[in-house]
Amino acid sequence: MPELTYKNKNAYDTMDAAEIENAQSYAADYMKFLDAAKTEREAVREAIRLAEARGFVPLAGQPRAGERVYKSLGGKALLLAVIGRQPLTNGLNIAGAHVDSPRLDLKQLPLYEDGEMAFFKTHYYGGIKKYQWVTLPLALHGIVVKADGSAVRVTIGENADEPVFFVSDLLPHLGRDQNKKTLGEAFTGEQLNILIGTAPAAKKPEAVSGDAAKSAGGEKDADRFKKAVLELLHAKYGITEEDFLSAELEAVPAGRAREAGLDRSLILAYGHDDRSCAYAALRAMLELEVPEKTAVCILADKEEVGSDGVTGMQSAAFEGFIAELAGGSTQLPAIFERSFCISADVCNAFDPNFPEVSEKNNSARLNHGIGVMKFTGSGGKSGSSDASAETVARLRRLFSENGVAWQMTELGKVDQGGGGTIAKYMANRNITTIDAGVPVISMHAPWEAAAKLDCYMTYKGMAALYGHRE
Ligand SMILES: [Zn+2]
Repeated sequence: MPELTYKNKNAYDTMDAAEIENAQSYAADYMKFLDAAKTEREAVREAIRLAEARGFVPLAGQPRAGERVYKSLGGKALLLAVIGRQPLTNGLNIAGAHVDSPRLDLKQLPLYEDGEMAFFKTHYYGGIKKYQWVTLPLALHGIVVKADGSAVRVTIGENADEPVFFVSDLLPHLGRDQNKKTLGEAFTGEQLNILIGTAPAAKKPEAVSGDAAKSAGGEKDADRFKKAVLELLHAKYGITEEDFLSAELEAVPAGRAREAGLDRSLILAYGHDDRSCAYAALRAMLELEVPEKTAVCILADKEEVGSDGVTGMQSAAFEGFIAELAGGSTQLPAIFERSFCISADVCNAFDPNFPEVSEKNNSARLNHGIGVMKFTGSGGKSGSSDASAETVARLRRLFSENGVAWQMTELGKVDQGGGGTIAKYMANRNITTIDAGVPVISMHAPWEAAAKLDCYMTYKGMAALYGHRE
């Protein structure tokens, strides 16, 4: 008689001490990656550094079996592959994660002064709860590309001797009206202005007489708080206000990934969504020997804003990459039809503080392993590619044969909301695709929490995928 009832187990009850030790050391490496990769550009740069150390080279012409190649999409997304023994027309095993995370982007003309203070105006990126982004230390990361094409990298606020930045909030004493507002209304996007300085630029010397004095007197103190910021930026980076027009500067929570919980079982960090899966997919690829089928790792950009654009998963850049691997595009339909993709993205972990949004039987638990989602979407699975029963069964086989702790989950109660991943964009290419990833607490908050065992099991899941022979 088989076991008639199904109960998913906590991985602490199924993993032996040696494997838990492996998970600890994996988590330590993942935390280093998090600290080096707080933006999509940094994630791509760090991934390339790690990949080159493991023998990956830029793709240039059709590679042979065993070769390890990558292609950077403008430094913001990355595609990697290890060429398998079998022809590409036997299908690819693809892990698709993303490396962009919610944050505050600076506007194109961000700098202004008000009340003898200088600020940066921001435009938030991705789904955030705005109230979470006030009164916490922020760091600035990004790039300024000057009109001549030369680029300046900017990182301020991560080292202890560097300043941080912040968005202010109202004191509770004067919060009577604010307290009456809903969480969504209490802060507007245009209020998320980052305080950047309060010391004015040095005054110009007094003009001596006549018209000169008149014009100088009217002008000399204008914008001096803003100018002070520009002087500092020019001294450090050689940039002017006009250069902001072609900059991508992102304010992210300042500080490192930390172990959380007295037992250190969790990691509290910015950007688990989706670097927990991106690192898992990357790390498994770095360690991959020559597989049977060609293995592909996607570190996509723009997932948090709809996967559009040249670096998002709706881009034809993916077809271009696979065509180059295949030595032409005529085989693409055949390759895609036989390929298998895990859309490696985080899911929500059941949070006992908010039980009302989850249906307990179908919610991911911390420490129960990688969370598999048959479908995402909202309002009756709308906008989801909804993997077939056959696909789920295939993943059950794959994970159980490879000792991967996993669990089935969905994104909250039926009418509670929802979301999406890159899964449907892969599935729309006629690639069999299913979602699976790390369960996260406080997803999209400045500091998200994930369990070390789940991060490790996601890595094991990606390694199993790359070795998949079906
Ligand atoms: Zn995500």
